[in-house]
Amino acid sequence: MEKVVIMGSGCAGLTAALYAARADLKPLVIAGSQPGGLLTTTTTVENYPGFPEGIDGYELAMRMQQQAQRFGARIQFGVVEALDLSGQPLVLTIDGERIEAQTLIVASGARHRHLGLESESKLENKGVTYCATCDGALPGFRNQPLLVVGGGDSACEEAMYLTRFGSIVYLAHRRDKLRASKIMAERALSNPKVRPVWDSVVTDILDAGQGKVTGARLRNVKTGAESLIPCAGVFVAIGHLPNTELFKGVLDMDEHGYIIPKGGAATSVPGVFVAGDCADRVYRQAITAAGSGCAAAIDAERWLAARQE
Ligand code: NAP
Repeated sequence: MEKVVIMGSGCAGLTAALYAARADLKPLVIAGSQPGGLLTTTTTVENYPGFPEGIDGYELAMRMQQQAQRFGARIQFGVVEALDLSGQPLVLTIDGERIEAQTLIVASGARHRHLGLESESKLENKGVTYCATCDGALPGFRNQPLLVVGGGDSACEEAMYLTRFGSIVYLAHRRDKLRASKIMAERALSNPKVRPVWDSVVTDILDAGQGKVTGARLRNVKTGAESLIPCAGVFVAIGHLPNTELFKGVLDMDEHGYIIPKGGAATSVPGVFVAGDCADRVYRQAITAAGSGCAAAIDAERWLAARQE
């Protein structure tokens, strides 16, 4: 019987593992389909405190893993396929193997919603990115035209952030009005470097042949007109999808599928705690995920201690 199983090995999961390991709970981390989490898909992380020169996202995740392992956390590669959280013990099935646990920390993260273009996946990290905060300052984007796709708060935030680096920032949205909050929309649209491209969807990103972004093809959804925007970067900000499908009908979640924490990191099921992006629609930063991982481990530890009293 495991005391603590942690589902997910991103910042939240690995920080939970570090704290649970230091509490001598010998946590078992199920690494999931993307070991190290979303952070591993970014290049340099410059906003994680303690690394004034920045640190490669993959390296930061690996360091977190090593730190957790140093205190006794175990990492198991695999994906949770099924769960039974109806009572104690909690039961997980991982690649066909049955694991029983007293507590579960759900740190399954979220994934960026993709446009779904073939050229988009070919050029990911070669000019196509999903995080302006992570990648905007890279040399290849400086003083170049950049394109942000989306119409929500994220797209506005990314566009405004990118005006620090790009020569001009196109903001392509599939409708003629931003979905973003009024204040964010006004701020973005009043920035002289932000140029909205209304009613437009990206149909292709150039140039997969060259292995770098040189522009994007767009189609006006009202007129059907095609256009080409030369740019050095395409920042896709069309929302996130929490990795919570397994918990539908099991844990309380909002209408977008984000798990709702109840009193700290607890969930609607006793012994199940939550941390990181699978419960965070707003901040979604490595440091906030790490902080919530710490909180979940402390809550799990206290929950276990209370049951022994
Ligand atoms: P969002 O509000 O869901 O907006 C996603 C945007 O992407 C929408 O404009 C949507 O278009 C567009 N979109 C979705 N799928 C698309 C596709 N396949 N092709 C083209 N466009 C597509 O997501 P978000 O901006 O990431 O925000 C998520 C939450 O975080 C929101 O609650 C937001 O308020 C919050 N947030 C807050 C802040 C802040 O306050 N500082 C910053 C970031 C995020 P439609 O409009 O046509 O649906």
